[in-house]
Amino acid sequence: MMQMTECNERLTAVQEKIAKAAKLAQRKADDVRLIAISKTRSADEIRPLLDIGHRLFGENRVQEAGAKWPDLRDAYDGVEVHLVGQLQSNKAEDAVQLFDAIHSLDRASLVKALAKAMEKHDRQVPCFIQVNIGEEPQKGGCAIGDVSGLVESARSADIEVAGLMCVPPSAVHPAPYFALLSKLAKDNGLSGLSMGMSGDFESAIKLGATYVRVGTALFGARS
Ligand SMILES: *Cc1c(COP(=O)(O)O)cnc(C)c1O
Repeated sequence: MMQMTECNERLTAVQEKIAKAAKLAQRKADDVRLIAISKTRSADEIRPLLDIGHRLFGENRVQEAGAKWPDLRDAYDGVEVHLVGQLQSNKAEDAVQLFDAIHSLDRASLVKALAKAMEKHDRQVPCFIQVNIGEEPQKGGCAIGDVSGLVESARSADIEVAGLMCVPPSAVHPAPYFALLSKLAKDNGLSGLSMGMSGDFESAIKLGATYVRVGTALFGARS
């Protein structure tokens, strides 16, 4: 019971911040969806959030999601799980079966693997093109100059492109990166924007985020 109360308070606090940021930006709070990032959390840690009605979650590893979510989906109606971590082409088939959206489509070889997996399993999984918005060598995401080409090739492979996603460089103000992602989305006729985490989701909402990915603010610090 304690756990559920604390969980409720955290969820309510995040939802209130989302509503406030949306209002300030003259946007509807409903246009911003909250993805609870449950990577590294056990099913026991996730259940309280499901018990109070939250249904949208995100994981960054295919294998971990495969171990946790089939049972949780059986136990709760209407669960949606998104992949927000890097995806290897050889796991595309598992990903297509496990997830309701993929936020990390970042290269042509993965377009191919995902298109093949979606056809094989007769299942359409909307994808966000991940952009390496800070041009950091160690980070996933396509180069800024490759966004249009990748959107084009995903579309011609019959993959539904839901929008763009980014993880801006840490330790610098993220707003210019969110603004750039927003512009890139507009230039490519895309309305979905997956951006903003625990530390910066309000800024992301101000700049057009339609999905915010929040872990720590909902579950506490990861050990
Ligand atoms: C872990 C993670 C998040 C959530 O980060 P928090 O700071 O815990 O909110 C969001 N997006 C991605 C891609 C992540 O890997």
